Amino acid sequence: MALNLLMLGPPGAGKGTQAERFARTHNIPKISTGDILREAVAAGTDIGSRAKATMDRGELVNDDVMIGILRERIEREDACGGFVLDGFPRTVAQAAALDGLMAGRDPLTVVDIVVPEPELVRRLASRLICESCGVGAPMGGGSEVACARCGGKLVQRTDDDEAVVRERLKVYHRQSEPLVEYYRVRPTFRSIDGTQPPDRVAADIAAAIESTGVGAVDGVGKAVDKNGVRQGAQP
Ligand code: ADP
Ligand code: ZN
Repeated sequence: MALNLLMLGPPGAGKGTQAERFARTHNIPKISTGDILREAVAAGTDIGSRAKATMDRGELVNDDVMIGILRERIEREDACGGFVLDGFPRTVAQAAALDGLMAGRDPLTVVDIVVPEPELVRRLASRLICESCGVGAPMGGGSEVACARCGGKLVQRTDDDEAVVRERLKVYHRQSEPLVEYYRVRPTFRSIDGTQPPDRVAADIAAAIESTGVGAVDGVGKAVDKNGVRQGAQP
């Protein structure tokens, strides 16, 4: 049974770090739409050059573009046995499209990482990415000076500037926070306290996933269908 994990949470909640870690320990791909876009920017592709200005303003890239990117990525061979999604979906339209793409696959397990706003602003001001390949360095990772993937120099993200951070948080509340309500009704949804140290957050995520019992049965021993809905459950 494939574990298809989705990380929700505001910018700076630690989704990227936790997604990376979970993907590595479970040997499934981490799919980060922010990383895919930053790689496209660094490589100077068409999508990258069009997305850069939008990202630098802290706004969201167009749903159709993002859904296209995601579709292409999860249809690749390596995502058949499960994946961790980080940064997608970011709008209800993207979530609805994802449900369509999940037809015939195992249900999504949704983890919402909760962190209060002042802590988010503090974290975003101090995080780094690779200048060469655009990949984010793990937050709270300590003293890395070079990119773990390509050895490139780590620099501040152009969209982690304080004014842009405020805008991204506004965009989050307006466009992405409604996803919490979208997914909360599913038996495979869990909230996690993201203010804890990374190891504790990782342990809580593992325990939360365990508690959903995604496999043949859920936490109360009833079968779960492909949308993560408990069979026979009354709405
Ligand atoms: P954060 O770390 O702040 O959550 P990401 O690295 O996931 O940010 O994404 C950076 C930027 O890339 C976003 O602010 C947005 O402009 C764009 N982006 C990434 N994923 C999406 C998406 N699913 N839909 C629209 N825009 C996206
Ligand atoms: Zn790199």
